[in-house]
Amino acid sequence: MQPKDTAEDIVIAGAGLAGLAAALGLHRKGVRSVVLESSPMLRASGFAFTTWTNAFRALDALGVGDKIRKQHLQAQAYVVTHPVIASATGETVREADLTQSGKRGPNEIRCVRRDLLLQALEEELPRGTIRYSSKIISIEEDGDIKILQLADGSVLRAKVLIGCDGINSVVAKWLGLAKPSFSGRSAARGFAHYPDGHGFEPKFLQFVGDGFRAGMLPCNQTDIYWFFTWTPSEHDKGVDESAVKMKQFVLDKLRGSKVPEEALAVIAKSEMSDVLAAPLRFRPPLSLMTASINKGNVCVAGDALHPMTPDLGQGGCSALEDGVVLARCLGEALVGDSAAVENERIEAGLREYARIRRWRSVELVATAYTIGFIQESNHAIVSFLRDKFLSGVLAGRLLKMADYDCGTLSN
Ligand SMILES: Cc1cc2nc3c(=O)[nH]c(=O)nc-3n(C[C@H](O)[C@H](O)[C@H](O)COP(=O)(O)OP(=O)(O)OC[C@H]3O[C@@H](n4cnc5c(N)ncnc54)[C@H](O)[C@@H]3O)c2cc1C
Repeated sequence: MQPKDTAEDIVIAGAGLAGLAAALGLHRKGVRSVVLESSPMLRASGFAFTTWTNAFRALDALGVGDKIRKQHLQAQAYVVTHPVIASATGETVREADLTQSGKRGPNEIRCVRRDLLLQALEEELPRGTIRYSSKIISIEEDGDIKILQLADGSVLRAKVLIGCDGINSVVAKWLGLAKPSFSGRSAARGFAHYPDGHGFEPKFLQFVGDGFRAGMLPCNQTDIYWFFTWTPSEHDKGVDESAVKMKQFVLDKLRGSKVPEEALAVIAKSEMSDVLAAPLRFRPPLSLMTASINKGNVCVAGDALHPMTPDLGQGGCSALEDGVVLARCLGEALVGDSAAVENERIEAGLREYARIRRWRSVELVATAYTIGFIQESNHAIVSFLRDKFLSGVLAGRLLKMADYDCGTLSN
């Protein structure tokens, strides 16, 4: 059968957190959209992610917060240890209470399984909203209409194009955003399932060593997620050739830094992420200050807008914020009673979205980069200051960045 040419009002590229949040927000506002996803099914790559207070506010605005709460444990504390120091002195570098209140209300941190969150968002969308195996390969213009060429040969005409297509976004490229830069660090992630219960307390454990940082957090009573970020060197060339080699590399690094045996046992038992070693990239924050986040009836959200290093655990959380703000601004522009012609209303809605999200994006990307640099530095002075004085400040910064409210779908 010949691929067809079709027309849609609002097209969202990518069914990740940003794309599904934007589509669901628009649906709640009574506005239909179609989501084009390049994969044949939802992609839950990376297993899980730390979901902070700001993300729960966004999920509540979308009407799925309670469903996610029921499936995941609330983290009670954030415990940072430098195992080499701890083995000599017995000291924990920092323990922060994660249930204390921030300026805008109580904190809430859970380690959320990506598959469960993506499914929860998808289930609320009208059938047929997501078109799988639909990869956008090029964007052209016919007046105000965007003409999307898909990899299967079909063509789709769109009145509005929202790029939620991740770090290698074709929409960000079309807008002329700066290419993401490599931070010099990589990450590995894993997931351990204990059918009879893992017995760990709901605490976010973090181990800082020379040139690496590892974190571990239970999602629920049976699943534990962990990550490991490090600065690759000549010595570890080839560790990402197989899951077995990658896991052994992580275990060797952690064992060499005296990480407790219980934590090593979790890693030894786990399944590794499909991407064994992800290079950590970010959009230079200076470039975001003046970037064209929107142009006419096109804009970007999530990693397509603000890829960041994972040191604040905010990339996915802020993608959810983007989705809510975008749905509110675009939804109000479309269903509101302004007398302006539709095109002008769409452009004004996207301009407002870009205005709200620009500085939040700049702040998150810059803070994540700085925290990552300090936490993993093995420079003598930086690591001395970090271990003596800065750990408390860094933990406080995580909570501060999470104490943000993107608002509801109507204000
Ligand atoms: C190691 C690591 C740890 C992290 N930890 C956390 C954490 O703890 N907390 C947190 O909040 N964030 C975390 N993040 C960041 C988080 O994973 C991302 O910020 C988040 O997934 C971005 O969501 P998104 O929807 O913008 O993009 P993505 O999840 O990348 O989704 C983009 C979607 O678009 C599709 N797509 C791509 N190109 C096209 C195309 N041309 N046409 C159609 N579809 C396309 C893709 O298949 C994909 O489904 C971490 C990231 C890493 C690497």
